[in-house]
Amino acid sequence: MLTQGLVTITGNGKTVLKAVCGCNGHSAELLARLIHERCLSTVNEVYNAALMAEFGCPACLVVFTKSEARYDGKEIPKLYWKTL
Ligand SMILES: [Zn+2]
Repeated sequence: MLTQGLVTITGNGKTVLKAVCGCNGHSAELLARLIHERCLSTVNEVYNAALMAEFGCPACLVVFTKSEARYDGKEIPKLYWKTL
């Protein structure tokens, strides 16, 4: 079943990181808990935790901040994170 998911990390009332996926979005709660428990903050940390939580899959998982983004293990074009 395809379920989109979104997990955000906020700081000072602003969104600082977003994790978006196109499937297995029901794992969003688990991912949010992992982020909180392990104090994850970087794109790489959250990307790896998302795959561990089976939040999305490598084909659809995107994790990005204002300055960095990861998709399918690669950096992605900047225009992607203009929506942050
Ligand atoms: Zn997927």
